[in-house]
Amino acid sequence: MNENLYINECFICFNEMNPNDKLIMCKKCSICIHNKCYKLWLKKNNIVKPLPQHKCLHCQQNHCLKIINQSCVDKLKSCFR
Ligand SMILES: [Zn+2]
Ligand SMILES: [Zn+2]
Repeated sequence: MNENLYINECFICFNEMNPNDKLIMCKKCSICIHNKCYKLWLKKNNIVKPLPQHKCLHCQQNHCLKIINQSCVDKLKSCFR
């Protein structure tokens, strides 16, 4: 793990994560995406599968996405410091 982790900003809109945002995180590559950004992206791509089966936008692996909240991200960050 290194500072190239994407957990500070959304992989889609590149805005910062806010404490109240629901986030989607990839368990494999650790990118984070706003739940609302991800939903928009799914709509654009006409994807209707249930969330855990989605491919990660970054590492393209299946079954690696999970919904988390900002407090989890903070915990993660503190581990990498
Ligand atoms: Zn976003
Ligand atoms: Zn990934």
